[in-house]
Formats: sequence, C-alpha cells, structure tokens
Amino acid sequence: MAVKREKGKKTVVCVDCGVLLTKDKAVLENNKYYCERCFSSLKEKVEEKIYFYPPEGFLRILCYILSFLSPLLGFILGTIYFSQNNKENKTFGKNCFIIMAIGLGVIFAFIIFSILFNLALFGINNLSFNIKEGYY
Ligand SMILES: [Zn+2]
Repeated sequence: MAVKREKGKKTVVCVDCGVLLTKDKAVLENNKYYCERCFSSLKEKVEEKIYFYPPEGFLRILCYILSFLSPLLGFILGTIYFSQNNKENKTFGKNCFIIMAIGLGVIFAFIIFSILFNLALFGINNLSFNIKEGYY
C-alpha cells in the first residue's frame, strides 16, 4: 500500500544535496529542484550577492566628488545603486545623479563662459586686425 502511494507521487532529487524528495515538497527554481533547506540557504546567498550597500564615510564623499568631477562616473554609480532594491542604495544613487547633474551644469556653464570669453577675445583680435589693416 505504502509503495503504491509512493509510486503515485513523483520523486525528484535536490540538485544541491542530492536528497530524494516528493515533487510537492521540492522547490522549483530556475528549472532545478531544491529541498526546502537548500532553497533557503540558496536564497540567502543570492540576497547576499545582490544586497550590497553604498560606500560609507570617506568613500561616500569620494564617490560624490568623483561624480561631480566625472559626470559619466556619476551616471554609472547612480545607475548601479538606483537599480538596487533597498532604500539606502536608491538614495545614494539619487545623490550621485543630482551631483552628476550639478557637475554637468558647471561644465556646461564653463563651456558657455569660455565660448563667450573666446568670442570676446576674438572680437578684440578682429578689431585690432581691422585697425592694422587700416594702417596699410
Ligand atoms: Zn537539498
């Protein structure tokens, strides 16, 4: 009787520890069967991998400075941390984006300033050139 019942249920093997279990007790993950114990430890491992925290203290300030100096780096840092699920990483990612935007704004302002400055210089040069040309 007991054998008959066992036959009715499909048995699977846990890919991690190799224990035999009935299909209804096994956990299916990525087309692989795990026993409950292995599955919970697997989940912990995955969470450890994904769950990385934003840098603290000096490193965090360094990241902000780098984001300011190099908007590309700020964008990369912001994207990495903003895509994370926990709030701390999201906040850090958002800060990187904001600082990157400020950095871009400063660069943009600097470009405009240098263009205006060059235009002014070019204008003066042009003026002196015209005067010189007037002499000859
Ligand atoms: Zn197992």
